[in-house]
Amino acid sequence: MKTTTARKVVEPDPRTTCPVCGDTEKTSDYNVDVGMCSKCLWFLDPTRGGVDHGNFMVRVSAPHDGPTAGVRFAEIRPRGFWSGIIEVHENINHVYNDKIKTVEKNWDVRVSWGSGGTDGTQDSIRAAENFTRAMDYAVMLARLWKMQRQQGKEV
Ligand SMILES: [Zn+2]
Repeated sequence: MKTTTARKVVEPDPRTTCPVCGDTEKTSDYNVDVGMCSKCLWFLDPTRGGVDHGNFMVRVSAPHDGPTAGVRFAEIRPRGFWSGIIEVHENINHVYNDKIKTVEKNWDVRVSWGSGGTDGTQDSIRAAENFTRAMDYAVMLARLWKMQRQQGKEV
């Protein structure tokens, strides 16, 4: 017995090119009101502290409440990469000091990074340069945050 299957032609979803990062996104996901794709909006939403530095985008966040209230977290997306591949984390370590019978708080600041993957909008040398600039910024931010915490500054 022979069966035939009707082949349905699947039309590709229409895509919109983001004027900020140059990548394309499904038009149904693209944010017309703010004029950028959802990936850029994650980093550059002015109501959430996003900043565009040219070679990279930075978003710093900190929970308002809970045990980690005020602890900062930065996500950095170099241009040409689809995600935040460099992160700066603050962390409080609570250590009990037996001599003075007190729990001491020690601040730790870490920089971490992954490959993330490029989005194809920049050539690989340019993408690598953007990564390098973003990493320089992450190191600067980590040093600044550590210094602020060591000086006991409220941030
Ligand atoms: Zn974009």
